[in-house]
Amino acid sequence: MKQYEVPVLSNKQVSNRYWHMRVDISNVKETITPGQFFHIRCTSERSPFLRRPFSIYQIHDQSLEFLYLVKGVGTQRMTHISPGETLNLLGPLGEGFKLDPQAKTILLVARGVGVATLAAIAQQAFKQNVKVVAVLSARTREDLLAAEYLTEFGADVYPVTEEEGTSDVAYVNELLTTNILIQYKIDTVYTCGSRRLSKLTQQLADKYRIPGEIALEEHMGCAMGACYACVSDIIENGQKKSVRVCIDGPVFPLEKVMME
Ligand SMILES: Cc1cc2nc3c(=O)[nH]c(=O)nc-3n(C[C@H](O)[C@H](O)[C@H](O)COP(=O)(O)OP(=O)(O)OC[C@H]3O[C@@H](n4cnc5c(N)ncnc54)[C@H](O)[C@@H]3O)c2cc1C
Repeated sequence: MKQYEVPVLSNKQVSNRYWHMRVDISNVKETITPGQFFHIRCTSERSPFLRRPFSIYQIHDQSLEFLYLVKGVGTQRMTHISPGETLNLLGPLGEGFKLDPQAKTILLVARGVGVATLAAIAQQAFKQNVKVVAVLSARTREDLLAAEYLTEFGADVYPVTEEEGTSDVAYVNELLTTNILIQYKIDTVYTCGSRRLSKLTQQLADKYRIPGEIALEEHMGCAMGACYACVSDIIENGQKKSVRVCIDGPVFPLEKVMME
């Protein structure tokens, strides 16, 4: 893991709350895998002092894309970065997703900005001719950004939104059990972005015996395993175990994560 100063190619608002940034990574020599993240210095000013973690949204040979939700001071500062300026990145960090080479169909269950994390595994699936089925949950239709991208590449996308009253867990459960899990033979499920949806996904993965992975999001300090800010609990061999999301994850086997 290294620190890089990379040129920003574009940084655009793509909806009311989301921005998209593309950076040149021609000087990054490490392999970058879906589910990994970079710890980003959001500004060249002193504040905010701590970097912020962002998943890789799309990976290309010479560039990387990030999709970010403007939440607080860090992401607000990121919106002020202009093309031609540089971005200070630490990474790539963490353990990414695994895509079984035998997989034929994968299911993504994402809420909100969780889709920024899952889009990269979809990108890898498209390259390997693996069918992608995605349940995307968001507040509004406008917030379903990656839906268009996924559909363009042949994914079957099932949008559920608060504004349409279709995003509650009972509705998604119905959608999965009476439609998706009957219509498709899912080989692996990936989830991110909502504890409630991830809990449902975990229960259904267990019931239908589908292996799964989850990308966890926790507040992070150093992102190098030293500060223990991002500790989360998992179950391993029947025992509760504390893990650091930054170095042990952010991707974990779905069945191991404690959802309460
Ligand atoms: C591994 C990982 C990958 C991530 N990938 C993305 C991504 O691709 N796109 C994206 O938009 N966001 C992503 N996030 C979340 C992102 O890091 C936070 O939204 C960001 O740090 C907020 O910074 P801020 O300064 O704007 O807001 P702050 O002022 O720090 O916080 C604003 C609000 O966000 C909450 N918050 C802050 N940090 C986190 C966090 N790490 N997890 C959950 N809530 C948080 C705070 O409680 C507060 O309510 C990721 C987080 C992790 C851990």
